Amino acid sequence: MTVDPDLISRPAAPGSKAESRSYDDVMHCNRCGFCTSFCPTYLATGDEGLSPRGRNQTWRALMEGRLDPSDAKRSFDTCLLCGICTSVCFAQVPTARLMSQARETVRNAQGAGGPLRFFLRHILPRPTLFEGLLKILYVGKKTGVSRLLNRWGVLRWISPRLEAAEEAVDRAPTSFLRDLLPAAEKYVEVVHFLSCGPNCVNPEIGLATAHILKVQGVRAGTANTVCCGLPGQSFGDLEAARILARKNIEVLENYPQATILIDDSSCAATVKEWPRFFEDDPVWRARAEAVSRRAKDVLEWLTLRPLDLSASSENSVVTYHDACKARYAQGLVTEPRRLLAGVPGIEYRELPEADQCCGGGGTYQFMQPEISKAVGQRKAENIAATGATLVLTSSVSCLLQLRSVLRKAKSKVQAFHIVELLAKGAKPL
Ligand code: SF4
Ligand code: SF4
Repeated sequence: MTVDPDLISRPAAPGSKAESRSYDDVMHCNRCGFCTSFCPTYLATGDEGLSPRGRNQTWRALMEGRLDPSDAKRSFDTCLLCGICTSVCFAQVPTARLMSQARETVRNAQGAGGPLRFFLRHILPRPTLFEGLLKILYVGKKTGVSRLLNRWGVLRWISPRLEAAEEAVDRAPTSFLRDLLPAAEKYVEVVHFLSCGPNCVNPEIGLATAHILKVQGVRAGTANTVCCGLPGQSFGDLEAARILARKNIEVLENYPQATILIDDSSCAATVKEWPRFFEDDPVWRARAEAVSRRAKDVLEWLTLRPLDLSASSENSVVTYHDACKARYAQGLVTEPRRLLAGVPGIEYRELPEADQCCGGGGTYQFMQPEISKAVGQRKAENIAATGATLVLTSSVSCLLQLRSVLRKAKSKVQAFHIVELLAKGAKPL
């Protein structure tokens, strides 16, 4: 029997403890390739380097010193971090998590991403500064200047990423959720977590959640929380993600009895993942565990505290797109479907490939616009095939992407967050 020496040798010691853990994980990949036919970026491009197997082997080669970081960057940066590959992998190789680590290693090696790193570490943790800057940027949107610049091709000329961002954010809210909802008292039942999407992009989602909580008779309020850390994790700046997580943990410890309710599944998954951010720091890990275990995605909350929706007047044909961070990171698959089954008057049609990423991926839709569009186009075609008039989801990133691809496809189908539909028909039990 011949043994592939690659499988038993470990030529170069990985640099950090985190890399060492990564190396152990990546060694579980037996290169069977079963995951490739599920990976949205592989399906969109047919490029092995953009498949889970290709990414894992690229990461392994980099850790072993057989590859230059610049040759690995595209493979890592184009991963949507969706997690479908792990769900079908017999060895459960955590490719999405490995890619966050891999991105960090590449950026550290290249000394790249300075301005973005500054933004993640110094602006995002300061809500007054971050939200103030966003409101200034929104002036361009409200006055129509950014749309004009887009139409003239100026944004594309500066960067296709700017063009994609302008197209994805279809409107600019005048007030953020932080300004609209009351602050929590010390012994509230629920702290309504201010995820960036519902806070700064689609406050109507947070208002729908707040309405539901009111109907349920739940004492709730917001706290002085900041971004959950997902952008840092996705970008490969894990220290930025830790800075934000620590800040949030300190705030949320002030409400020791409260459930932390999160109405964006991407943030809910991240908050639940905070303990993993502190694998080498037992003190912060314990604090993160204590807070994370109180976190609930709104999909879970509504399953535990059902609403009487008998007065709902909705009569649409509805389909549902699973946010990857709900389905793969939190295992929330039956919950949204059960919730929709409780809405009288709607006709529910299952979306073909509902389990496939839409190409949103947080800031991915701005950072990798070409692949994001290709992945999103397939989603739009699947939505059209259902004949639905309404598509629902549970993350703002997905919502922006769905609206953008539906607009591009000149579709009449409307996209909403699931709480927006449920809030309309909510009556107390
Ligand atoms: S990640 Fe899993 S499914 Fe994919 S090639 Fe490796 S072992 Fe096979
Ligand atoms: S996380 Fe998603 S995009 Fe990344 S390798 Fe896995 S399936 Fe492909």
